[in-house]
Amino acid sequence: MFPSPVPIPTQQVFLPLLEEKQVELYVKRLDVVHPDISGNKYFKLKHNLAQARREGHHRVLTFGGAFSNHIRATAVAAHLAGMLSVGCIRGEVAFPLNPTLQAARDAGMVLFPMERSIYRKKSQEEVVDRLKEEFGDFYLLPEGGTNGLAIQGCTEILTPEDKRMDVIGTAIGTGGTIAGLIAAASKQQRIIGVSSLKGEFIRSEVQGLLDTHGIAPQGSWEVFTDYHFGGYARHTSELLDFVRYFHRETEIPLDPIYTGKLFFGIWDLIGKNYFPPHSRILLIHTGGLQGIAGFEKRWGTRLYPDPL
Ligand SMILES: *Cc1c(COP(=O)(O)O)cnc(C)c1O
Repeated sequence: MFPSPVPIPTQQVFLPLLEEKQVELYVKRLDVVHPDISGNKYFKLKHNLAQARREGHHRVLTFGGAFSNHIRATAVAAHLAGMLSVGCIRGEVAFPLNPTLQAARDAGMVLFPMERSIYRKKSQEEVVDRLKEEFGDFYLLPEGGTNGLAIQGCTEILTPEDKRMDVIGTAIGTGGTIAGLIAAASKQQRIIGVSSLKGEFIRSEVQGLLDTHGIAPQGSWEVFTDYHFGGYARHTSELLDFVRYFHRETEIPLDPIYTGKLFFGIWDLIGKNYFPPHSRILLIHTGGLQGIAGFEKRWGTRLYPDPL
């Protein structure tokens, strides 16, 4: 069965800049919710797997890149729910498998490499039909796991104690998580998303999710698109230095793909007096730490002095 969540701690961070600017910074540690189904992926998958079982499927099929947090989380979640899983991987599957794909395969996922030109057409009927011929019946989860049930799950990230927060920040990939947070936020709250991807399209992507799923925001929301550090899965030494600084001072590990960019962006905005004094800012730690081992191998660098 799908594991039940552990209590999720929110911790306040104390650092000189925060004192100087008189803002309060809190971190909601979704990264500790489950060792393998980490962060927002836990919330995005829970209702989907329940639905897949209700509909009598025995197999989940989804899509992702070779380092995808979603792929690994789906593999483990499906396994724990007693279901089979297929991961359609963008591009080639290189051997030896990277740590993400190895963990997915250890959880029983069938890895199916997909040529990029076909991967781009993955939501088209003819591609899905071909996959059905190949694998038989399955419950289809879109890339990143974002759909209505995922957004519903993400509304559950916020709890009554979070009502006292003025600002809630999250990283953005496909926008499912921020859509859930926007749906759950109350009138006086502002949801801020920091995009991990290059491009302005993400703003209309989020708006599209709100429209499609009939979400009428109570509070306000905004998306920052200038903290992508070159694009998805790209980084600079400035980003890594910040991630290391934050970890050294707070013992909170961040990943360089999503949470590092979110925290950097908010940190930068705090420094620029974007938030009025006494603002209470809650950052959602959406997990992603599983990707660090693959990141280090890929770039031949160490993010933290010791393995997490
Ligand atoms: C998948 C992921 C995101 C992006 O979530 P979306 O719902 O796709 O916007 C953010 N942070 C981490 C750590 C993730 O793994």
